[in-house]
Amino acid sequence: MSADAFFRRLHAVVADEAARLNALDAAVGDGDHGSTMLRGLTKAVSAPDNLRAKAFMRASGGASGTLFGLILMAIEAHLETGADLHAGLAKACERICDLGEVKAGDKSMVDALYPAVEALQNKGLAASIDAARVGRDGTKDLRAQRGRAQYVEDGGRGHLDPGSVSVVLILETLAEVGD
Ligand code: ADP
Ligand code: MG
Ligand code: MG
Repeated sequence: MSADAFFRRLHAVVADEAARLNALDAAVGDGDHGSTMLRGLTKAVSAPDNLRAKAFMRASGGASGTLFGLILMAIEAHLETGADLHAGLAKACERICDLGEVKAGDKSMVDALYPAVEALQNKGLAASIDAARVGRDGTKDLRAQRGRAQYVEDGGRGHLDPGSVSVVLILETLAEVGD
């Protein structure tokens, strides 16, 4: 499948989910996660081949734009050039942890991405998505150590991390359009 089809489908999915992502972010952050993702994806879909993830990164802006851009860059390279998906996402996860100064358990997108990368290695994309969903759901019980959520009451405990929800949407879209 083509990177173009992936970005177009992800744009449609996030357009449908943007209000929910904003609402999730309103509980623990500044309420813009859906809008930020959508702004990046709107630029990505009209960007040339191989430059869609970069266009996303530039347009969505801020720390999270760069962090999600790393995931999208690995997927784009996989779909455009056949680059290994597990290796690309493992590297992206490492860089996200590094740049974001987070580790698994800190209540962030990494809580969905890290287990997804682990499962992808031997078990494939369907198992990876299951692992990401479990990680996403687990963010509800965590207290944030980074990002805006660390400043809200009890570190946002009781609320899902919006970025972890987006990680699942990204992987589901990849599976849906045919890896
Ligand atoms: P912003 O926090 O700049 O408004 P978004 O609302 O688009 O950005 O994205 C918020 C999501 O980004 C969080 O739910 C979390 O998953 C992820 N995130 C934010 N800061 C960090 C960080 N330092 N490390 C890893 N992920 C982060
Ligand atoms: Mg936000
Ligand atoms: Mg913001």
